[in-house]
Order: sequence, then structure tokens, then C-alpha cells
Amino acid sequence: MKLSGGNKDFYMKYSTKILHGAADRDPFTGALSIPIYPASTYHQKNVASTQEYLYSRTGNPTRNALEETLAVLEGGAAACAFASGVAAVTAAITSVAKSGDHIVATKDLYGGTYRLLTTYLNRFGITHSFVDTSNPEEVERSVKENTQVLFLESPSNPLLKIIDFEAMEKIGRKHNLVTMLDNTFLSPYFFRPIEYGIDLSIHSATKFLGGHSDLIAGAVVARTKELGSKVKAVQVSTGNMLSPENSWLLLRGIKTLRARMSVQTESAMKIADWLNRQKWVKKTYYPGLPGHPGHDIIKKQADGYGAVVSFEADSIERTNAIMENVRYWTVAVSLGGVESILSYPAKMSHASIPEDERAALGITNQLLRLSVGLEDADDLIEDIDFAAKKI
Ligand SMILES: *Cc1c(COP(=O)(O)O)cnc(C)c1O
Repeated sequence: MKLSGGNKDFYMKYSTKILHGAADRDPFTGALSIPIYPASTYHQKNVASTQEYLYSRTGNPTRNALEETLAVLEGGAAACAFASGVAAVTAAITSVAKSGDHIVATKDLYGGTYRLLTTYLNRFGITHSFVDTSNPEEVERSVKENTQVLFLESPSNPLLKIIDFEAMEKIGRKHNLVTMLDNTFLSPYFFRPIEYGIDLSIHSATKFLGGHSDLIAGAVVARTKELGSKVKAVQVSTGNMLSPENSWLLLRGIKTLRARMSVQTESAMKIADWLNRQKWVKKTYYPGLPGHPGHDIIKKQADGYGAVVSFEADSIERTNAIMENVRYWTVAVSLGGVESILSYPAKMSHASIPEDERAALGITNQLLRLSVGLEDADDLIEDIDFAAKKI
């Protein structure tokens, strides 16, 4: 008894797929919102029953509707929804890596993934090397005999480095690696790594997929059924899954993905362009700027540049003045919501990376990261301008 009312046999353009690719109505009532099924258990018609739903850790109709939707959005064979983005990263890695295996990972990773690799998975004999994955030769050089996983993040956080996915897929295939991408920043609306042969697409759905700063969730979408079963096995074995309530909320957020991503990205471009022209800005990082390293690659491989912009101010005093005086921007961790967020990577998302390593990565104490929301772009610019001059 699948909840998907969408007809996947029709050819649909991507924006239509977001709404009708899967689970667009409740088959029992026709309701345009899939109901929340809070049930833990289900009546078994006979003990040998092979019915779809038996117990909600292994399967829940609301979560399944979400997972079908995620699989369609990423063009994957299967998807699993998790309690958070970090939970999804953990499930993706542990679905294939075992004790003795090595992981090659992007250097300027999300802080939580860095912590997972350096303080948790290392205790289970899973080792790692951090490399500049925007440089394919460096990736190739760092692959060892026991390398099992190539873990990628692009645009990277917070410096928005861009990865060439054609090159990564080739390296992965040559060395028999499972390739995975944390696709949080672009969302499947702008980039679908599975189309490039990447094995697992991972999300902190807390960010752009959810879009409203009102839930914590994660997702892993697998290119093949076989990999999907491995991820599912982790979900069932570790009890790491998304609740039906949050699955419903995420389904609701996804419906407006196109509208949010388009407007937020358009504003991000405008803001990045403005920052790039200010005397007090030392450096602007935005993949949509023609001077950004990797601009040509992302232009070719993705459908948009995303709504995250980072910049380095000319002094600590300026950095503090901006954080203390902005009125529309919310100083906070996180990103991807409809409200614009200003964050300070050195003390927030990347605080778990030691200072000297941070400095070597370019995450200086003057670096600020913007997640552009749905406010008027001119107001957002005026607000930064106002705050930056308060020194
Ligand atoms: C936020 C984030 C995560 C972690 O997600 P949670 O939902 O907070 O657990 C992972 N990767 C990236 C790129 C993120 O921005």
C-alpha cells in the first residue's frame, strides 16, 4: 500500500516532479497532504505476513512518502530519512566502511563531519585523510590500498570550493571506491550528483530541503538498490530514523523548494556582487562570481550556485561591528532557511577544528558566512552596509 499518488511514468520537468514525482496525495482520501501516521506498530493479518508495514522503526507510511520523494528528487534508486544531517552522514559512511578502511575526504568539511571522522569513527579503526578535493591530482595521490570511501562536500563549507564531479567519478571507479557527496548547499534543485555517477547523495535536510528553520533532519539517497539496502540496514540496525511528524514537516517544506531556491540564489548573487565591490571586504567567496575558482565547473555541472556567500572583512573590529549591528540578518548557526542568517565559522560551525588548522584552511577570524533568505535583497545589502560602518 504505497502512498505515492504521483505518476512516475509521465515525463515531467523538474519543478513538476518536486510536487508530483511521488507521494502527492493520500490514496485513501485524496488529501493533498500526506497524513502523519504516529503508529509504532501495525496489525498483522497473519504471522507469516509480508505486508509493507510492521513496525515504525523499519517502515512508516509518512516517512516512506518522504523517502520516495527524496529518491525522485535526486534521481536515485532508494532513500532513507534520518534524525539529522550528521546522522545521515554517519549512516552513509558506516553503510560501507568497516574497521581497517580508509576514507579520503574534502578538507574544509562541515565541522560536524570533521568531528565524526576525527573523534568518533577513528575509534572503530576507520582512518581518514583530508585533501583539497577541488584538485583531482591530490585526490588521486591520497588514495591508498585500503581506501573505501571518497567523501565529498561541494560547494565546501565555508569557503565554497567547487569539485569536478566528472573527475571524482572517474577516480572512484578506477579505485573501486564508494563516492558520496554532502549535497546540502545546492540541494537537488540545483545539483543531482547521482546523474554524475556519485553513489550516495547526503543532505542535512535541516537546511534548504526543510527551508524554514523549524526541524532537524537528514537524508541519504542511493544510486543503486544495493547501496540503498546497505543504508537501510544502518537505519534499521541503529534505530536512526526521522519521526513521522518531522517527515511530514519536511515533505511540506520540500513543496516550495523551487520558489525558495530560485529567489534566495538570485539575492545571493546580488549580495555577493555588491560585497565584491566594497573596499572593506578583503575577499568574497561565491561560486556564481566569474572570478571564483571552480566557477566554470559549477556553471557546467549544476543548475545554480546556491544561496550561501562567505566574505572576509578587513579587520576583527569590522567583523564584530557587522555581527553586533545587523537588524534583518539573524546572527546564528545554520543556513538554508527563509530568514537570512549571518554566521561566524571560526566560533560557530568550525569551532571544533583547531585554530591552526582553521587558519591553514583559510577560515580566518574575519570570515563571515551568509545564508541568504527571502527578505528583499536591497534591504539585506543596506543592513550589512549600515552595520559595517559602525566601527
Ligand atoms: C548542517 C550541516 C550538516 C549537519 O546537519 P544537521 O542536520 O545539523 O545534523 C552536514 N553538512 C552540512 C553541509 C551542513 O550544513
